[in-house]
Amino acid sequence: MEKIKILFTEDEIKARIKEIAEELNKKYEGEEVTFVCTLKGAVFFFCDLVKEFKGDARIEFLRVSSYEGESSTGKINLKFPLKAESIYGKNVVLVEDIVDTGYTLKYIRNYVKEMNPKSYVDVSLLDKKERRKVEIDPDFSGFVIDDLFVIGYGLDYDQKYRNLPYIGVVEK
Ligand code: 5GP
Repeated sequence: MEKIKILFTEDEIKARIKEIAEELNKKYEGEEVTFVCTLKGAVFFFCDLVKEFKGDARIEFLRVSSYEGESSTGKINLKFPLKAESIYGKNVVLVEDIVDTGYTLKYIRNYVKEMNPKSYVDVSLLDKKERRKVEIDPDFSGFVIDDLFVIGYGLDYDQKYRNLPYIGVVEK
């Protein structure tokens, strides 16, 4: 197994998720929220975030792909769509793993908004701001990181490393 340098420990991730959840709890006090998980990378973040939400929560899943190996192809494929009736008229919180070029978030944001939710925000655990190719920022983000290919806590390298409880970088 390759050597992995840890960027964010399990405890650091947990602490940051609690902070984000506090903001969401304040924003949606007394309201129902539909959390949408973008598979597969966001799955652990999604579960940990939704468990911190104090109000009524619904959960939905969406799968898109644009990556092959370590690079974004820019072409987004919708692999598992949402049902329009699960979004229409709802407070939607879209949960992403990482925003890199921004193509994926731009696509998903348009896709969800076309289903006319009552409100919409997106949350990304990680944000590689300096890699952006389209002008878009997640409404909430966990950590801004440098231009590094990260793995763990749901994020893969060719489907490996998703099960690591921390976020790290493979040392070559
Ligand atoms: P974007 O369309 O913003 O370039 O890419 C977004 C998607 O690419 C993310 O949802 C994620 O699946 C993947 N991605 C981008 N950067 C990384 C990274 O550093 N590590 C991993 N494992 N996936 C990444």
